[in-house]
Amino acid sequence: MGTKAMQVPKAARPQAATMRAFVMHGIGKVGFMQKPALQDPGPAGAIIKTTTALVCTSDAHTLAGAIGERKDLTLGHEAVGIVYKLGSEVKSVRVGDRVAVNAITPCYKCTNCLRGFTSQCTEMLGGWKFANIKDGVFAEYFHVNDAEANLAPIPKAVPDEKAVYTTDMMSTGFMGAEHANIPIGGSVAVFAQGPVGLMATVGARLLGAGLVIAVDAIPKRLELAKHFGADVVVDFKKQDPVQAILDLTNGEGVDSAIEALGAETTLEACIKATRPGGTISNVGYHGRGDFLRVPRVAWGVGMGDKTIRTGLCPGGRERMGRLLRLLEMGRVDPTPLTTHRFKFQDMEKAFHLMETKEDGILKPLILF
Ligand SMILES: [Zn+2]
Ligand SMILES: [Zn+2]
Repeated sequence: MGTKAMQVPKAARPQAATMRAFVMHGIGKVGFMQKPALQDPGPAGAIIKTTTALVCTSDAHTLAGAIGERKDLTLGHEAVGIVYKLGSEVKSVRVGDRVAVNAITPCYKCTNCLRGFTSQCTEMLGGWKFANIKDGVFAEYFHVNDAEANLAPIPKAVPDEKAVYTTDMMSTGFMGAEHANIPIGGSVAVFAQGPVGLMATVGARLLGAGLVIAVDAIPKRLELAKHFGADVVVDFKKQDPVQAILDLTNGEGVDSAIEALGAETTLEACIKATRPGGTISNVGYHGRGDFLRVPRVAWGVGMGDKTIRTGLCPGGRERMGRLLRLLEMGRVDPTPLTTHRFKFQDMEKAFHLMETKEDGILKPLILF
């Protein structure tokens, strides 16, 4: 094992001694720096030449200190690229293949992975390695651990700018719907229509929801919610969303509510808007505070048969293959989420927009 020489692509130009990376120097401080070029993927790993990436709100959370201090850590976890070097144990792809790599790259060997909770690889949230416990994807090249399980070949018909949405937005948003136990024909409320919430709306429709109610207050997002399959949109600045949802469901509440913001008020609204026996599926990143409050009475004083389900973006080649198939077959087109495009050298501008959410930004696409 691991004795075979690393494969080197014939067509690819040899890498320079250093590569450009967009890093977090420390909490609140970003910038470019030169890092040593990646040369050794290790027997089970791979090195990918980045072609297209997306900036995520989670990157802004990380920079703000949500996961603690980091020194010169390369940011980013949503990218696709071309296989540049492969470890000797990696058999399912070849150098030069176009691949998508999920934001979450589990080992598929540890106890939590073997129990089926791959996003909790080794420890809670441990599947999240990019821009957390190792350098992320905002660099000319990035390294992928356990590449056999984590590299997903991109079908010819799917361009990079679509495929890149499978790495987090589609996987996370669809998970929000999958975890919501939506009965066929059932009613679903999706709180917040940012990129993940919009993909949760798409997921709810794909899973057979009979009524999808999308909640937000930004007109452009409500418009996109309709485009992506919401039957009704509720502007929470114009009406109380819980009351609106009760009115739409004969006073009963929805079968499933999806929290796609990461705020106490929306989690509370989800619990209040869900009928007894229903499921609240949380995909929001709760980046502040020590506790989240549960509305006691709406929760049936702890006996309402209301399930609160949590999860982190599922990764892996098998799931990625299915998400890519949805793109290949034209079931989903996430490209309306791309509101801005930047070259890698303009990363700072893209990142700043993601922090301030100015200019109606949803997702900035980064071209390398
Ligand atoms: Zn992300
Ligand atoms: Zn694992």
